[in-house]
Amino acid sequence: MSKFIMAEENNRIISGEDKIFGINKKAKEMIEEIGKDNVANATIGSLLDDESNLVVLSSVVDVLKDLSPVDYAEYAPIAGVPSFLEASVKAVFMDHIPSCYVETIATPGGTGAIHNTIQNYTRPGDTVLTSDWHWSPYGTIAQEIGRKLETYPLFDENYKFNHQGFAAKVKELLSKEDRLVIIINTPAHNPTGYSLTLEDWDHVLALLTSAAEDKAKKIILLVDAAYLDFAGDAKEFRAFLPKLETLPDNLLPLIAYSMSKSYTLYGMRGGALICLSQSKAITEEFKKVNTFTNRGTWSNGTRCAMVTLSRIFENKDLFDKVMAEREEALQLLADRGNAFMKAAGEAGLITCPFTLGFFVIVPCDHCDEVGEELQKEGIFTVPFGGRGLRVSIASISEKWCSILPAKMAAAIKKVNG
Ligand code: PLP
Repeated sequence: MSKFIMAEENNRIISGEDKIFGINKKAKEMIEEIGKDNVANATIGSLLDDESNLVVLSSVVDVLKDLSPVDYAEYAPIAGVPSFLEASVKAVFMDHIPSCYVETIATPGGTGAIHNTIQNYTRPGDTVLTSDWHWSPYGTIAQEIGRKLETYPLFDENYKFNHQGFAAKVKELLSKEDRLVIIINTPAHNPTGYSLTLEDWDHVLALLTSAAEDKAKKIILLVDAAYLDFAGDAKEFRAFLPKLETLPDNLLPLIAYSMSKSYTLYGMRGGALICLSQSKAITEEFKKVNTFTNRGTWSNGTRCAMVTLSRIFENKDLFDKVMAEREEALQLLADRGNAFMKAAGEAGLITCPFTLGFFVIVPCDHCDEVGEELQKEGIFTVPFGGRGLRVSIASISEKWCSILPAKMAAAIKKVNG
């Protein structure tokens, strides 16, 4: 019997419980009780300053405030404002001009881009592949449209990218299905902070290129680049992009781009899906099917978010101002990351490999119990996948980042011996 009164579950697992929300609530209650200086609320997935206020790039807000009423009120074209589509490609590729056909579609954030990819490049019942550590809405999006999510182990026993595990899972799924969408979230992967190295990329693409020798297979590689601008040096962490330009036609790279973190416009729902191919027919088809999906889901995106990005990329002074301000935000995050990793080294605390990102993962057994133990000390983290604790370094100060690792090591020891 359905557990719903009027609604239909439609093969989705809808628990209604939000673990993060619950822990966040507890953290807030403790802040009320003992004051915010005594509590580290490392549950929030947004970049906060040391006073726990959302970091908002004022140069971006100035652009928004300058827009005309029409920029707020008018519908955007279903596929997106043309100047925004151009700007989003520049935002991803910077000065580099891809040596292939490129098409872009506007989506509500990176989430919309992920939805469109799964909707248009799999069939109902198909399986989408991502890593075991992953952003949980991938599963929600897949379920919502009747697809399944399976995973490969992201790291091997030496905490390196698990090329064997990846290859085994790709081969397994391609032996059962002729289509496969693979989501790789890099750079600054959520939740581990891992960025694929150029060598990792060579292995991944060699494996997929060899799988694509079977022309009956259609492989779609979705690079979820939501944290592209919070990974470290902008050029260094974009160096993998040219590798995506010369792949065989039946190995299609797509890039999910998001304005949420890069322009601190989380709520404005600005994003894009970018398609690269040597085949014009494939990029044209991309545009056609994704325009249809936009129309059939959210219709059009937020015009003022799109116009904001266009304006930034049309005006060099403005662009430089936004980049300089973002650099400060990036530095804030990098300082916290460095402080956490240094203290983790000193405390002998094991983390998943981390270059930079909003989160650090501390793998541990009995993570719920360890998390509760830490809460007694005013430290709030999120038990993740039953295999570790997710620490949002984006939402706690550098000082807390230096304190947490020793406390975490002690709590793990206390619970697990
Ligand atoms: N991908 C990852 C890994 C994320 O963490 C997020 C947001 O937190 C997104 C995609 C999409 O974000 P948005 O839809 O706000 O652009």
